[in-house]
Amino acid sequence: MKQSQFYFKTRKEVSKEEIAISASLLIRTNFIEKLTSGIYNFLPLGLRTIKKIEGIVREEIEAVEGQEILMALLNPKRNWEQTGRWSTFKALFKTQSRYGQWFALAPTHEEVITPMVKNFIFSYKDLPLYLFHISNKFRDEPRSKSGILRGKEFIMKDLYSFHTDEKDLEKYYEKVKKAYQRIFKRCGLKTFVVEASGGTFSRFSHEFQVITPAGEDKFYYCSSCKFCRNKEIAENIKKCPECGNTLKMFKGSEVGNIFKLKDKYSKAFDLKFRDKDGKNKNVMMGCYGIGISRLLGVIVEANYDKDGIIWPKEVAPFAYHLLSLSSGNTKIDKIIKKQADLFYKKMIHKGIEVLYDDRNDVSSGEKLVDADLLGLPYRVVISEKTMKNRKFELRERRNRKVKLLKLSDFDKIIKGR
Ligand code: ATP
Ligand code: MG
Repeated sequence: MKQSQFYFKTRKEVSKEEIAISASLLIRTNFIEKLTSGIYNFLPLGLRTIKKIEGIVREEIEAVEGQEILMALLNPKRNWEQTGRWSTFKALFKTQSRYGQWFALAPTHEEVITPMVKNFIFSYKDLPLYLFHISNKFRDEPRSKSGILRGKEFIMKDLYSFHTDEKDLEKYYEKVKKAYQRIFKRCGLKTFVVEASGGTFSRFSHEFQVITPAGEDKFYYCSSCKFCRNKEIAENIKKCPECGNTLKMFKGSEVGNIFKLKDKYSKAFDLKFRDKDGKNKNVMMGCYGIGISRLLGVIVEANYDKDGIIWPKEVAPFAYHLLSLSSGNTKIDKIIKKQADLFYKKMIHKGIEVLYDDRNDVSSGEKLVDADLLGLPYRVVISEKTMKNRKFELRERRNRKVKLLKLSDFDKIIKGR
């Protein structure tokens, strides 16, 4: 992608309303744009990164046999009345058709998926079943001050599992827990698996928390036995209930949450199956969410320095940032451009994701500042200085290590990337 042709311009200032560092960095680099409080548009760089995150999530959920579907976001009122949540789900957005019917804008999908699978689940032979979808959710959040960390409209991955019994649900729940740890690790995050309220049906659910001052949750952590519990459900515990050690408290942002729903929704929708013994039984369910757009924000909260974002490799919108720096001398600049164009062509040919700063109306200083702000993992610079010795500069954003390499070594560097 050439920056001269790309929807890209960094901004110096961001509105003072943006208090989250992630929101301010993502707006300054044009990854996202605010429509109004809690509602954001994703621009080309932001969407590329979202797709990278979704790709990782899709791969790992498919690896635990999840099958992808896409459910409707406009939900009839009766589905939500059937579970009682039309009146109890406080953040439910409700909208009325001009013909009088009421609809909910889906904040989660139990009310859609449970009656849907009734068409497919009849006997124990139809179970287990694992279905997931990645799409927008709507919640009338009272506090949308943290940019994309808490949106009124946001992107979520939600997986639902259907089982014959609790034991099978338990087994799958543990499998998903491991898949989640792989997902967040690949996103460049260290997560803590925190015990949290399980609602009325389970003692605990599990949250995946990333430590950050921008987070809205607080959790206890035991450095000795790794016990973690959300403060909301465990007021004033001083000693670890597992090993007696002193607990620490951290602020975190929840990037995922897994729940054993058991028969809560199958009861509401009369979702039953005929078991081996010929008896009709309630299907056992689990649900597993990941905040895809919140993840984009949390990744930034956990990966930045004074100069800008530092993208973890697997989720970076591009792996390389190629910069041609002009010297002011037309003849030399022609040579620089020719070399940078050649590198760009080679990288595209190799299928390497590269953003090429080929803008000629921008100073070298500005290009370097923009590159740090944007924070792609590798920067390749061609300038008068490097060309003098027939070299190019390769710099890693995370550790700022710079190497001056021979132009002839470029092929080796990009080979196998
Ligand atoms: P929270 O505790 O942050 O309010 P939740 O427990 O209500 O979230 P779930 O229903 O478990 O959220 O949704 C699954 C995931 O979706 C959460 O773990 C979180 O990462 C993400 N998420 C939930 N609400 C929002 C929101 N308003 N904006 C962005 N992401 C969200
Ligand atoms: Mg939660």
